[in-house]
Amino acid sequence: MANPPVNLLAQLAQSVGTENLLTDPTELEAYAWDNTGIRARPDAVVLAACQDHVIATLKACSRVGVPVIARGAGTGNVGGALAAHGGVILSTQRMNRIMEISLDDRLAVVEPGVVNGDLQHALAEKGLFWPPDPSSSQSCSIGGNIAMCAAGPNAIRYGVTRDWVLGLTAVLADGSVIRTGGRVTKGVVGYDLTRLLVGSEGSLAVVTQAVLKLAPKPQARRLLSAAFASVAEAAQATSMLMSQGTPPSAIEFLDPSALDLLRREEVVELPDAARALLLLEVSGDHDDVERQADAVVARLEPVQPVELARANNNSEAKRIWAARNALSPALKRLSPKRVNEDVVVPVSRLAALIDGCEVISAELDLPMVNFGHAGNGNIHVNFLVDPSDDTSMEKIKPALDQLFRLVLDLGGTLSGEHGVGTQKRPYVGWELDETTLDLQRRLKLLFDPTNTLNPGKIFPEQGADFLRPG
Ligand SMILES: Cc1cc2nc3c(=O)[nH]c(=O)nc-3n(C[C@H](O)[C@H](O)[C@H](O)COP(=O)(O)OP(=O)(O)OC[C@H]3O[C@@H](n4cnc5c(N)ncnc54)[C@H](O)[C@@H]3O)c2cc1C
Repeated sequence: MANPPVNLLAQLAQSVGTENLLTDPTELEAYAWDNTGIRARPDAVVLAACQDHVIATLKACSRVGVPVIARGAGTGNVGGALAAHGGVILSTQRMNRIMEISLDDRLAVVEPGVVNGDLQHALAEKGLFWPPDPSSSQSCSIGGNIAMCAAGPNAIRYGVTRDWVLGLTAVLADGSVIRTGGRVTKGVVGYDLTRLLVGSEGSLAVVTQAVLKLAPKPQARRLLSAAFASVAEAAQATSMLMSQGTPPSAIEFLDPSALDLLRREEVVELPDAARALLLLEVSGDHDDVERQADAVVARLEPVQPVELARANNNSEAKRIWAARNALSPALKRLSPKRVNEDVVVPVSRLAALIDGCEVISAELDLPMVNFGHAGNGNIHVNFLVDPSDDTSMEKIKPALDQLFRLVLDLGGTLSGEHGVGTQKRPYVGWELDETTLDLQRRLKLLFDPTNTLNPGKIFPEQGADFLRPG
């Protein structure tokens, strides 16, 4: 978009107040980024303080054809919160009230700008938690979690964001308000629009309130770390743990390059023979976690880890989790840029995925580090590239082409939690057939006939630009 119509800015200032409208280029810069490293400066930012501000912004912008991009904390990995085609960023960071925590109905009602970690803190005091646990939880918003269907290590036992949202209030592009689901855990009246909105990446409506289902916070956790001599053995162990009995509450996988990174950072001690690591967490009542941990150890016997260690106490477990969560920042230090994918394959195909990634990396001479949520077959494949080196950058597209082809051949999906945004648009047609894609496009237009909400995201276009950070 060129410049937004002056009338529009005046109208927005009147509707939301000048204190909630940013137009100064310096202030706009803070909203020009997300975790992709791509820069796309918006034309204006509305800092919505209430649902009326959301309604007014959408009404005004859709009338004059100006894009509106909902934004939580801007931690997304796929460019979803960027004004890729200009327009108005609609930030929910000021809509950050936890409106209700009901113990009787085991639910919370929140505004979209509440930070995941703040909600968890408030719930912990009441012995509850909201299971979606992205590693960005200390900064990302519930609205962003809902829009991206975020998840983390808890997903094996608890599922993903979609499984923990009971109802939504959302504003459509024309300013009308819809309510989906409610305060109950069963309900079959009409289509399940809650599940449709979760994961819709801000393309169908702006969420202004969410009713979240809560779970009792496990009293205790035990962490085991199992080091294996090969990726194949770690993958086999994962399959065994998932196929028999109650799975652990988390199974996180680290490949040989990730282990080398941890060794270099000196954050954990690892046996020299370790080529793959599984972090296995069990959780439950105080008197049950030791039994669960023993059961995991017994089930691992046939695969013989080179080392099987139990964290002795909570602070040791925290240190090991911190090492796992430090992988992303460590990669940033290691390489000027990484292309971070979050592909998923059936658990039984995990070894084939990692083997295939190693072939891609060797053939293209492109360094790679893999780790992720093995229990869901969800692996973060990180290609390390150097933006100052054209040869290195030219390898990204063939690497992604080969990776995504491999994943689909293995019966998987292109994204388990990061979504499509601008980044995976060119590949969506590889996974979804044309009839299904067409239905999805028509759904988008039914919700948003003026294509105001997050245009240029999710759906592949003819000759779609291959937006990668430069
Ligand atoms: C260090 C790091 C670790 C991460 N780890 C994980 C992980 O383990 N698991 C995981 O799933 N993700 C992870 N992410 C990605 C990211 O944190 C999640 O996608 C998160 O849910 C985004 O929340 P946000 O508030 O930052 O959303 P934003 O980045 O602001 O927005 C993301 C998308 O949501 C839309 N949106 C935001 N608010 C609304 C709303 N109210 N209504 C409608 N649409 C809205 C935006 O338009 C955009 O398309 C990680 C990111 C970082 C930086």
